[in-house]
Amino acid sequence: MKRRVKPLNAERARARSGQNLFSFEQENGWFGMPFAEISPRLKLSVSDRAKRMALRLDPRNRLVHLVVPKRANMRTAYLFAEQNKEWIREKLRDLPRQVPFRDGEILPILGKDRRIVVLYNPALKVTDIQLKKDELLVLTNKPDPSARIKRFLMELAREKLTELALEKASLMRRRLEDVQVKDTRSRWGSCTEDARISFSWRLIFAPSKSFDYVVAHECAHLVHMDHSENFWKVCERACRDFEEGKDWMHKNGHSLMRFGALPS
Ligand SMILES: [Zn+2]
Repeated sequence: MKRRVKPLNAERARARSGQNLFSFEQENGWFGMPFAEISPRLKLSVSDRAKRMALRLDPRNRLVHLVVPKRANMRTAYLFAEQNKEWIREKLRDLPRQVPFRDGEILPILGKDRRIVVLYNPALKVTDIQLKKDELLVLTNKPDPSARIKRFLMELAREKLTELALEKASLMRRRLEDVQVKDTRSRWGSCTEDARISFSWRLIFAPSKSFDYVVAHECAHLVHMDHSENFWKVCERACRDFEEGKDWMHKNGHSLMRFGALPS
């Protein structure tokens, strides 16, 4: 039974050309090949367009994608990855360190480095988190308050992003229906035809010029739903520092993903 199920799932996944196969294959050792032994951060990407096998570093998700053409032989793919395992491990090792939400770690929150200070007290009834000048002060009864810290930061991000988006939208004389923050990994923001904007909460770790740029960018979509020359004019006008803000996001945006738990 199992042998029948596997190819069926693989076919379906392949049909979504270029996308990752899902954890199904990973858990089952990728068609019986021990890819995870090379690195647990190695992911298979079956591609319709790829002509040959390739390895691609994905710093945003801390993964190395093994891109294989549609009809590739899995054993050949495995040998290819195995031959390049030093490269794979080195690239992953050289990524900036993942910064978990725990006592003593430094987080750049709203353009300023703040140290997480956790004061654990089991007698407390609730967890209280305060953003101070140099600290994120966490008074908690939880041995691991990281989920609470994330929630606090998401809420703070929502508040600040909404505030700035409303300000920019009103300068553009545009109506803004709704602002949401999401735990997205692929985009920093999006804007719908009916004036709803969403942002990645991780923008809270971006330098303020970049935070400002991403908000200006999405708000400029309230005026132009494309990336035309006119769109960029509106965007630039709405930015505090267009060049620097945009440039930083382009070069370093992926580094915002290193805060919090390692993505699975
Ligand atoms: Zn855009």
